[in-house]
Amino acid sequence: MARRKKIYEGKAKILYEGPEPGTFVQYFKDDATAFNAQKKDVIEGKGVLNNRLSEFFMQGLTNIGVPNHFIRRINMREQLIRQVEIIPLEVIVRNFAAGSLSKRLGMEEGTALPRPIVEYSYKNDALGDPMVSEEYVVAFGWANQQDLDDIVSLALRVNDFLSGVFYAVGIKLVDFKIEVGRIWDGDFMRLIVADEISPDSCRLWDVKSGRKLDKDVFRRDLGDLADAYSEVARRLGVLPAQTTHLTKPTLIN
Ligand code: 5GP
Repeated sequence: MARRKKIYEGKAKILYEGPEPGTFVQYFKDDATAFNAQKKDVIEGKGVLNNRLSEFFMQGLTNIGVPNHFIRRINMREQLIRQVEIIPLEVIVRNFAAGSLSKRLGMEEGTALPRPIVEYSYKNDALGDPMVSEEYVVAFGWANQQDLDDIVSLALRVNDFLSGVFYAVGIKLVDFKIEVGRIWDGDFMRLIVADEISPDSCRLWDVKSGRKLDKDVFRRDLGDLADAYSEVARRLGVLPAQTTHLTKPTLIN
């Protein structure tokens, strides 16, 4: 049997050549890493949950007209996506202070920010994804000023959408990271949301209790990561109400 071609393997996902030109298959692994892979574990069921959650968010974005790479889910761990030229940036949007912003500015976690703040990190594991300014982005040719305007606009639309979807189920969207890619239509280039949107790349706090429901549970040893992700999926209606990851995640539809 012919083996499909692996295009790229990252910390949490693998990309394979897709069935048609211009497509990839994105496989979600159970591996969890933090602090630039210095902390590692395998969390059974995480890949299944993130595949389904990313599908849920990307489809929602499609439904409100925000272009993204998602085409369709193939199975429990795989989805068909559009091939893009990834811009080598992590685009981070923050609504409340947390994580590296709190550390950098000595600001208490949970402090509301005056407005959503968009920032960039250069995607480079060896360097630990350093924060970079727009000046760096343009000077080094990763994106031009028009691209940056489009990236900010995409990031803020994703922020408004996700903030509303999470708030409706009692979850505060503290911050998140997206990646953006280029697609070409003849000579015309468009920027679309790529990679994944899941609790791996967001900070999610329960509105009432403040309980963390995201990868900080793993980063900071706060309990069972798959339990936290299952809770997010259950609230969003992606998992049946009574299911836990221990019985293996069961998908609705
Ligand atoms: P911070 O800069 O505070 O560490 O992260 C800000 C937000 O971006 C958090 O929601 C965090 O999960 C996300 N983020 C930052 N870097 C990465 C990364 O390398 N991978 C993932 N999955 N998310 C990241």
